[in-house]
Amino acid sequence: MPAAPLIDAYGRIHDNLRISVTDRCNIRCFYCMPETEVQFVPRAEILSFEEMERFARIAVTLGITKLRITGGEPLLRKDLHLLIRKLAAIPGVADLALTTNGVLLPQLAGPLYEAGLRRINIHLDTLDRERFLRITRRDDLDRVLEGIALCRRLGYHPIKINAVAVKNLTEPDIVPLARFGRENGLEVRFIEFMPLDAERRWDRGQVLLADEILEVLSRGIAPLEEIPDRDPRAPATEYRYADGLGRIGFIASVSRPFCLNCNRIRLTADGHLRYCLFAIEETDVKPLLRGGADDGQIEELIRAAVGGKWEGHEINSARFIPPPRPMYSIGG
Ligand code: SAM
Ligand code: SF4
Repeated sequence: MPAAPLIDAYGRIHDNLRISVTDRCNIRCFYCMPETEVQFVPRAEILSFEEMERFARIAVTLGITKLRITGGEPLLRKDLHLLIRKLAAIPGVADLALTTNGVLLPQLAGPLYEAGLRRINIHLDTLDRERFLRITRRDDLDRVLEGIALCRRLGYHPIKINAVAVKNLTEPDIVPLARFGRENGLEVRFIEFMPLDAERRWDRGQVLLADEILEVLSRGIAPLEEIPDRDPRAPATEYRYADGLGRIGFIASVSRPFCLNCNRIRLTADGHLRYCLFAIEETDVKPLLRGGADDGQIEELIRAAVGGKWEGHEINSARFIPPPRPMYSIGG
């Protein structure tokens, strides 16, 4: 008999697990990492591929069907294709995806595709070299563009572009990025800047809101209409151009929180289970994974973590407290 689904106190069923494979990164986006003196988790604390695979297998028996690999920068993890192969082979995994900054795709897109990866989100905020450098503090735009072109040639599908939108900075990128997506068959998803930066500089005034972007696109490219039959539990609100040529997504965690429909849990690279990107508390799974616990004990721990999930983040209230870990250490 199949196990009961992972359901929380608010009736939300969880079928989506994000696994961070490293907290290290080869670039330094200002809204995520500090420029220097980054605190990384010691290597011995990072889960092995075997530990991640075991956790994923147990989660799949509890109804998880969607897995996403993230980080830090997941392509920095040596032999990532071996993990992809293991995860793709788990019966019950309907959807396996990766989120990357794309810098190492020219070398690794091929081996990852061969290992079974098809869905990829590539992080790109701008097509302007100077602004790319300002945002990421690295001069790697050409590599990312080369990586995107290679993914298209190899047949990855869908390829989505994750663009963090920051007020008084990325406005000039809205139309060029959206055009780039339209011309190359990529869905661009604009992500509102969230309070997850390591330097704790976020304030509401820096959030470029989904509605503002929507208006710029409708005026600058073509009118957009919301896609009515989309999955209500997907975090992105999706629009299509009225002329039928392409679509755009918004992850509007600040202006349109989607906590009521949340179906996700996250495993950090050092083995902590989180029920929310913004959670303050988390559950350390590593002592069980490394201490000889049986699958039933790990299952119980996952159920307890989901059972204790809060109703939602409170970014829009005075009570909001940013989580102790910044984005690169949680796994976005
Ligand atoms: N390094 C990979 C990358 O950049 O795609 C994967 C990890 S990164 C933490 C995952 C996503 O988080 C990125 O695509 C980026 O768009 C997003 N992100 C990082 N910091 C953010 C912030 N403060 N607000 C909103 N999105 C953020
Ligand atoms: Fe690295 Fe991704 Fe964070 Fe940028 S958003 S610093 S690429 S982990």
